[in-house]
Amino acid sequence: MDKGLHLYNTLTRTKELFEPLQPPNVGMYVCGPTVYSDVHLGNCRTFISFDLIFRYLKYSGYKVRYVRNITDAGHLEGDRDEGDDKFAKRAKLEQLEPMEIVQKYTLGFHDVLRMFNTLPPSIEPTATGHIIEQIEMIKIIMDNGYAYEANGTVYFDVEKYSASYNYTILTNRNLDDMLANTRELGGQDEKRGRLDFALWIKAKPETIMRWPSPWGVGFPGWHIECSAMSAKYLGDEFDIHGGGMDLAATHHTNEIAQSEACSHKQPAKYWMHTNMLTVNGARMSKSAGNGFLPAELFTGDHPLLDRGFSPMTVKFFMLQAHYRSTLDFSNEALDASEKGFRRLMNAVNLLDKLVPAAESDFEIAPIAANCIKAMNDDFNSPVVIAELFEATRIINTVYDGKGKISAAELGKLKKLVSDFVFDIFGLKDEDASNTELNDVLEMVIDIRKAAKENKDYATSDKIRLGLQSMGIQLKDSKEGTTWNKV
Ligand code: AMP
Ligand code: ZN
Repeated sequence: MDKGLHLYNTLTRTKELFEPLQPPNVGMYVCGPTVYSDVHLGNCRTFISFDLIFRYLKYSGYKVRYVRNITDAGHLEGDRDEGDDKFAKRAKLEQLEPMEIVQKYTLGFHDVLRMFNTLPPSIEPTATGHIIEQIEMIKIIMDNGYAYEANGTVYFDVEKYSASYNYTILTNRNLDDMLANTRELGGQDEKRGRLDFALWIKAKPETIMRWPSPWGVGFPGWHIECSAMSAKYLGDEFDIHGGGMDLAATHHTNEIAQSEACSHKQPAKYWMHTNMLTVNGARMSKSAGNGFLPAELFTGDHPLLDRGFSPMTVKFFMLQAHYRSTLDFSNEALDASEKGFRRLMNAVNLLDKLVPAAESDFEIAPIAANCIKAMNDDFNSPVVIAELFEATRIINTVYDGKGKISAAELGKLKKLVSDFVFDIFGLKDEDASNTELNDVLEMVIDIRKAAKENKDYATSDKIRLGLQSMGIQLKDSKEGTTWNKV
């Protein structure tokens, strides 16, 4: 396959593309968070998208080794190996050790992803835990002639690399245009070429996070950690490398260059990039100051929020967009997602109450086939959600006695929900897990039943209307009374 032309966002027919990999093993590397501060909702979108991909590959029978790193060193504020170290700056601000900062925000990151019910990766390596591997890789790149040392800092030689390899393979940019748009080197610069980037950076006297190396005391550049850790855990060539779209032009471009300069091999077969979560059209980012923290979203405690939204509502909102489309945050869109998610969950909760008939008005296999087809077509979750709403309609029709379903079709319907809603999307019914609410409502429903039996309709109506004003609707049927949120 011509990797050069097809590398960027080309995972369109998943099953087919992976078929040659039998026995089914997939190596997937995703760039993880930089843990000097809380993750915002935009970061979460990327990790939730790769969780969907991880879950679907596993569901499809692949054995996936999913590596997602933690960047806990070597991140400077400037794009071009300049500026303060983000960890050291934050440590000063919070009066903590840099590693206390790392620990605090790594734990926070895990807590947030747990709330979104994402699966942990198979390996979660840290940059600081792999300094030796990074140094070893830099040594090989230098031995191969693609890097040079200048005054304790090691730079990657982009011009030398470009003579044999394609530096713009991911972006299709023109190298001359890139050069024209990059600041010229001044007399002070140690770099030989304008596009050269640091593999190892000499420590300043005030640098706290520092390690010994063959080039003196310093710390690794940001890009080398992912090349070193992906090669260590997945090999020189693996299947999928992912991250947000904003990483393609620099971080991933430099990763490919480093890996090729080391092993002479393209590291990943498929590069997958998730699109950005935006706010009023602008990318959500830490530096732009428009990054909601997930906790603010859940409580509603943010000036741009009308109220709070639950983690599963937010996850459903994200799944309603394809991972390669931009997704704009708005209160209205979240309101709509909340309604949609409740409609789906209310129907799911009715599944066990459906009584099968001898015949069936509905066939579930075409719906299930459409879901698989959509997921095989570049993980098209919005199409799957449309199909799940069709399943919702069937459930409600049968429950309302306006249609029949056979035991066999009901079994398929249950499997569809279990596979797609729970296993692949990783959604969960937040109300069902709220056992206190369930217990209280069960008790209230019992009191209302007793009131009705005693012909005390004033009390039974008071309960029904009171619950309704709280957004809880009771529904009476032959089988008893059920409730759902409206
Ligand atoms: P960072 O912690 O800044 O390195 O980002 C972690 C991951 O989140 C990277 O894969 C980024 O590309 C991704 N990311 C950052 N901002 C957004 C956004 N607004 N929407 C989606 N993903 C994002
Ligand atoms: Zn990375």
